[in-house]
Amino acid sequence: MQEEMTGAARQPRCPICGGTTFEPGPRGRMALSGVLPRCAGCKSLERHRVARVMFDRLGPERFAGWSAIQFSPDPTVDPAWFGSFELSVYSAPGGIDIQIIDRSDCAYDYVGCSHVLEHVGDDRAALNELLRITAPRGFVYLNIPDPFAEEVTRDWGFPKPEKHGHWRVYGRDVTLRFDRYIPLQPVLAYRGTDPVTGEATGAFLLPRSAETYRWIVDRLGRDVELFSGPPLV
Ligand SMILES: [Zn+2]
Repeated sequence: MQEEMTGAARQPRCPICGGTTFEPGPRGRMALSGVLPRCAGCKSLERHRVARVMFDRLGPERFAGWSAIQFSPDPTVDPAWFGSFELSVYSAPGGIDIQIIDRSDCAYDYVGCSHVLEHVGDDRAALNELLRITAPRGFVYLNIPDPFAEEVTRDWGFPKPEKHGHWRVYGRDVTLRFDRYIPLQPVLAYRGTDPVTGEATGAFLLPRSAETYRWIVDRLGRDVELFSGPPLV
């Protein structure tokens, strides 16, 4: 890690595919730091790489034999880490409605839901459904746009076309929703930095057992904090 930061090895390298070529992001945007944010190889953006670094620290070898489902078509996790991997794109034809998930309780060990919750009318139902299908040894990986950027959630009660069809923009007070909608579920907040753009962002991890909770906290140390809900110890 250290040598990547020094001398000639300073050229940014995508932690997902190893690529060193980058391009403009959605709608031609640049990163906040002014550099190109999208990897030309795997098409990852800042948030995908921040989360990939987090998963690398967790140790993907733990996922061998896990059953996984992901509701967002992005390169954050490697499907090969898991025993089985299902991709269901919310709002795409045939995609599962995460407000009523047609799967049995504890059907998956890993449930990935990144940049989907803001597209959902009933996020209380969605959060409870995501937890319902997650087995005790697993966790939900939840990501929402810029989770720590805004103070207060703005919810307009319908999918706003000029806001990419989002029903709301979550603020840091999303903790109040977690407290109200999933009061018994610990929500861990991870914060990290994208090695390509330097942008800091984060994600949430919702462990379903004390063992998984302890494993996440052990591995991520000071970069993870209990954001809402009770500690599982
Ligand atoms: Zn890449």
